[in-house]
Amino acid sequence: MEWKTTIGTDLDQAASWLRQGELVAIPTETVYGLAGNALDEQAVVKIFETKERPLYNPLIIHVAHAEQARSLVLDWDDQVQALMDAFWPGPLTLLLERSPAVPDLVCAGLSRVALRMPDHPLTLDLIKRCDFPLAAPSANLFGRISPTTAAHVFSQLNHRIPYILDGGPCRVGVESTIVGKEANEWKIYRAGGVTRAELEPIIGKVKKVNPADRPDAPGMLPWHYAPRTPLTLGGSAENPADRIGWLRFSSLGPGIPGERQFVLAPDGDLHTAARRLYAGLHELDALGLDQLIAEPVPNKGIGRAINDRLKRAAATRQG
Ligand code: AMP
Ligand code: MG
Repeated sequence: MEWKTTIGTDLDQAASWLRQGELVAIPTETVYGLAGNALDEQAVVKIFETKERPLYNPLIIHVAHAEQARSLVLDWDDQVQALMDAFWPGPLTLLLERSPAVPDLVCAGLSRVALRMPDHPLTLDLIKRCDFPLAAPSANLFGRISPTTAAHVFSQLNHRIPYILDGGPCRVGVESTIVGKEANEWKIYRAGGVTRAELEPIIGKVKKVNPADRPDAPGMLPWHYAPRTPLTLGGSAENPADRIGWLRFSSLGPGIPGERQFVLAPDGDLHTAARRLYAGLHELDALGLDQLIAEPVPNKGIGRAINDRLKRAAATRQG
C-alpha cells in the first residue's frame, strides 16, 4: 500500500487510523515510534513489514496507565511497582512474564513482554483514546538511524504509513533502558535514558548484560542505528582533504572543516548530547561523505547509552 503520508497533530485522525488497524508514527521522549494496535496481529505484522524488521526482533508495548500494563503480564511485585512509580511515564522498559493476551509475534515467541509508559502528552492521550496498547519500535527502517523529529520519520517512512503525529523534537533522544529480572537478579539488557545509578536506589544491585554473551537477547544486534556512511568510533583525520565527517562531543576538533563536524553538546552536558545524537548522525550522513568518525563521549550516566549506540552504529553489518 502506498500512502500519502501526512504530518500533523490531529489525535482523532491518528486514533482513527490505529483503530482501522493501520500504523501511525508517534512522538515519545526517547525517539519516534512506529505504532500499531499491539493486540491486533495483522497490525503487528504491518509494523515488521513497514520497517523491514526481522520477525525475531520483538517490539516494546506502550501503555498509558499501570492497569493496562498489568493486563498484559502475569507477574507483578513490589519492585515492579516501585520501578513504575519511580520512572513511569519515562524511558524505562520492563521485561515481564507475558499474559496470553499478548500476541506471540509482538514478543517474537519469547516468554516475556517489554512494556513502557512513554512520557509524551500527545502519545499518552492517543493511547487512552484508542483503548488498546500500542506496539512500537523506532520509526526508522531496520538498522538505520532512529528518528528524533517528525521530519526524520518522514524521510524514511514517507508513502509507507498514513500519518505522523508531530510532537516536536524528542527530549531524551536515545532509546529506553530495558530491565528485567532473571534468577532473582535485576539486569540491564540495554543502556538508555534511565541510568544504573538511578535504578539501584529503587531495586538494589543491577547487573549489565553484555549483549555479546546473549545471542538469546534478541534485538541486541551488534550493528544497529547505522548511517549509510561508514562510521568508526574514535580515530582522527589524517588529511583535511579527505571526505570525512566528524561527530564530536563538546568542541570542534582539529583538522576537519567546521561544516563537516557536528558538536553534540556545546554545553558539555551528556543529556544535550543524547538529545542531539541521532540528529547529528542524520545530518552528517546527509552530507554524502566517504567516512564518519565519532568521538566517544564520557562513559558515565546517559553517556553509556550514547557510546553503546555509537558502537553499534560503527559495527560492520553482517548477514
Ligand atoms: P526498539 O528497537 O527500541 O523497538 O526495542 C526493542 C528491543 O527491546 C528489542 O530489540 C529487544 O532487544 C527488546 N525486547 C523487546 N521485547 C522483548 C521481549 N519480549 N523479550 C526480550 N527482549 C525484548
Ligand atoms: Mg530501533
